[in-house]
Amino acid sequence: LLQLAAPLNFLGMVYREVKQALTNMERLFGLLDESLDIRDRADAVPLATRNPWVRFEHVGFGYDARRQILHDVDFEIRPGHTVAVVGHSGSGKSTLSRLLFRFYDVDSGRITIDGIDVRDATQQSVRAAIGIVPQDTVLFNDTIFYNIRYGRPDATREDVIAAARAAHIHAFIESLPDGYESDVGERGLKLSGGEKQRVAIARALLKNPAILVFDEATSALDSKSEQAIQAEIDRIAQDRTALVIAHRLSTVMNADSILVLDGGRIVERGTHAQLLRANGPYAQMWRLQQQEDEERVATD
Ligand code: ATP
Repeated sequence: LLQLAAPLNFLGMVYREVKQALTNMERLFGLLDESLDIRDRADAVPLATRNPWVRFEHVGFGYDARRQILHDVDFEIRPGHTVAVVGHSGSGKSTLSRLLFRFYDVDSGRITIDGIDVRDATQQSVRAAIGIVPQDTVLFNDTIFYNIRYGRPDATREDVIAAARAAHIHAFIESLPDGYESDVGERGLKLSGGEKQRVAIARALLKNPAILVFDEATSALDSKSEQAIQAEIDRIAQDRTALVIAHRLSTVMNADSILVLDGGRIVERGTHAQLLRANGPYAQMWRLQQQEDEERVATD
């Protein structure tokens, strides 16, 4: 029995290593292709996004059949317009972006881009049309250059640098001892939340998508970084069809339309000025945030 102990121990170690590797792969797939259940229909067509008009038509959805998350969500983003979504944590904001990217299929209603139901289009063409700046950008354990070029793997060095400049991260990268060749991720340089988000913006700019989804980071930024990121959102969303998932109301003031989500339902919609005049849930959230900002300034 003792003779067996060493090989068994060894097998246990191999098992743990393989399991860890699989978990890492799962994470990677989670990032690239969250749901492998979603498949193309045999007659799926490539999406033409000459006129990227996004519509959510009476969408109902739950991750689990026993718990519905979205209820009758109905809105559109006209070509070149920006729609922002606000609401409490857990109200379903990020779920909208996951459905648009077709990580999941809706349970009822439909989502169309350019009049085509995303379930009838090839996944490849849907995902090529949409650039996402996620809440928490996952960086690969590779160079910063690789991490930006991931947005368009055939991009030239000049393209990567131009995207980094536009995302206001070029000067920072240049200041690193190894510049664009600096390793980031697990074993390398650690980037702050704001820096990571800029890498994600550079990636998205490089991809140059017709439709942009910006999932604002929840982590609190200082007001200077907040303004800088805000200016970047405005700039990259210009002339694109954009969906902005916002956690701070200051981010949404310039949106063409704001949706207020509560418990997976749209409870209010309009421009910033219209919603303030309506004096409903949005106006209440706005006042609360103003108050918090004043307190923050007072304690700074
Ligand atoms: P936050 O402001 O905190 O980012 P949110 O409004 O973006 O929140 P969602 O991430 O859309 O909220 O989540 C909506 C609801 O769906 C939450 O109750 C959440 O627990 C649930 N949920 C989110 N992702 C999953 C998942 N993969 N599986 C099961 N439930 C999920």
